[in-house]
Amino acid sequence: MAGIYIHVPFCVSKCHYCDFFKTTNTEMLNGYLDALMEEFLHRKNSFDEDISTLYFGGGTPSLIPLPNYDAIFFRLKKLYQFLPDAEITIEANPDDLTSDYLMGLREIGFNRISIGIQSFHDDDLKRMGRRHTGKQARQSVMAASDAGFKNISLDLIYGLSWSGTEKFVENLKMLKDLPFQHLSAYHLTIEQGTNFYKLHRKGKLREMDEDESLKQYLLLCEFAQKAGMEHYEVSNFCLPGYISRHNSSYWDGTSYIGFGPGSHSFYGGSRYWNQSDLLNYIGKKFDLVREQELLTSINKFNELIMLGLRTKRGIDMSGVTSDFQNHFNTIVQKWVNKKSLYQEGSFLKCSEEGWFIVDAIIEDFFVDADL
Ligand code: SF4
Repeated sequence: MAGIYIHVPFCVSKCHYCDFFKTTNTEMLNGYLDALMEEFLHRKNSFDEDISTLYFGGGTPSLIPLPNYDAIFFRLKKLYQFLPDAEITIEANPDDLTSDYLMGLREIGFNRISIGIQSFHDDDLKRMGRRHTGKQARQSVMAASDAGFKNISLDLIYGLSWSGTEKFVENLKMLKDLPFQHLSAYHLTIEQGTNFYKLHRKGKLREMDEDESLKQYLLLCEFAQKAGMEHYEVSNFCLPGYISRHNSSYWDGTSYIGFGPGSHSFYGGSRYWNQSDLLNYIGKKFDLVREQELLTSINKFNELIMLGLRTKRGIDMSGVTSDFQNHFNTIVQKWVNKKSLYQEGSFLKCSEEGWFIVDAIIEDFFVDADL
């Protein structure tokens, strides 16, 4: 079983916090779609596993017209064997989701939708540079449900320094009235190259202080628990049976192949990625944009830590090879003493508080690849 990821690098406008690979030059969309269809053929012999998940991420996949999705599905199904219960997800922006578009997506075969709500407060959405309003956010979730989507994931951003915790609590309350099964909640980070980064450097945007961030994170965890959701990955919560199978494949070592500029792949023991280079991609220079990394024992150790600690399953400690055992044991002890990590059988797991600082813990474990 394996997954397919397709990166759609187009957005109508750039959100002020976003450092994903995308362009607002939508005039290149047709050239991209043409190249994408060609890339499927170009890589047809590199990957022959049955497909259990297909995921369109972005960028804004909901900008792609329905007839193009029809053509993409037709080609993919000729090239790959899809399992009958394959999870097929589209990431979507609320303002693209008309009833007709949603019904069309269902007819084509999408059975999961991930909607970028981020907030229900118009002023916060505007400040983040989002195109939609809180009302559109609510309406889009209802419309997805009405169109027959029974696996709806919502994205939320917390840790907005200019917006108080009271407004975050209101966002959580608004979720209660909506039909959804999965929640991805990310703390705002100020990334280089974004508008927020420029404002931050000018002293016009501060990061939220850690106490308030922790308060919001714990409120989020409490909300999800009361809603009957499982906290299965540091930023992801779901009702029983609604784990994102596609994203889980990134964490559990399942193979996946990525198409489109900026997409990543993992199969046959190697990682591959297409450079974030739309012009060469549209020029169909697929071998020029493709990079490969063979995993060394250090890479494998670092990945075991990074992927394992982010999930509820934790790290299977039997996977730590003898070369790294002493280093591993020392760091484990340090964070177990702080109650950020705990052991359960042969697994090492993060506590909920540990997840709040998981990036620092992971960094502590990391072995420098140059050593
Ligand atoms: S957050 Fe999403 S919609 Fe906004 S610029 Fe980034 S990819 Fe585009």
